[in-house]
Amino acid sequence: MRRLFIAGNWKMNLNRGQSLSLVQSLAESLRGVSEVDIAVCPPAVYLGELGKALHATNIGLGAQNVNSKAEGAYTGEISCSMLKDVGCRYVILGHSERRAIYGETDSMVNEKLHAVLAAGLTPIVCVGETLEQREAGQTQQVVRSQCLGSLAGLTEDQMLKTVLAYEPVWAIGTGKTASPAQAEEVHKDIRSLLEAQFSVGTAQKVIVLYGGSVKADNALELLSEPNIDGALVGGASLKQDSFEGIIKAATSVRK
Ligand code: PEP
Repeated sequence: MRRLFIAGNWKMNLNRGQSLSLVQSLAESLRGVSEVDIAVCPPAVYLGELGKALHATNIGLGAQNVNSKAEGAYTGEISCSMLKDVGCRYVILGHSERRAIYGETDSMVNEKLHAVLAAGLTPIVCVGETLEQREAGQTQQVVRSQCLGSLAGLTEDQMLKTVLAYEPVWAIGTGKTASPAQAEEVHKDIRSLLEAQFSVGTAQKVIVLYGGSVKADNALELLSEPNIDGALVGGASLKQDSFEGIIKAATSVRK
């Protein structure tokens, strides 16, 4: 039995006051929610302050990126131990914006993944095809290759500690959502890949999120699919009512 997980990726949005006020309101309104795991991933500069605000709440704190090195001359970078220090539990890795804008490759994601797991943080590893790749019939091949490259060298135990997020690039921030059937098809294929690489038991336990224009009004149908275990939410995680609406939908899903 997999627990549903809803994580908000704020990207480079909200100022300090807005960030604090959003987490305070969410902590208050989501206080009784125990059937769904929840996290927010704010900009790195606010992690310390928000970590304090979220301490002893049911909302986990996540970062949007990390450097794989432990310390040293890496100007502008942040290490896993620094993230742990300020109360982070999760780290998003290989988001399509980082892959497309900052040139992150599967092997860079893989290096970061090993560092994140070694530090005892929970990685959320993103994969997904572009519109061009989907239209060329390459979705399965692209997603499988990103999974194999990003997850290389993981033990079965490490795989169980890793969250995956299928995020079709054409659905991110565009208002175009994959239909529940389109998303389920890819999620099911990711699970069969995990089965082949690890075991049936592990494949059944790994949390695989869907991301791409998830909103309060389409969350229920997506989350009701058997292989979709939650959502990585961008735009709709920036407002209390829309993020809460998605979490409410998740609490009503029985799997
Ligand atoms: C994301 O950035 O991971 C994302 C899914 O964004 P949005 O929900 O805005 O499409």
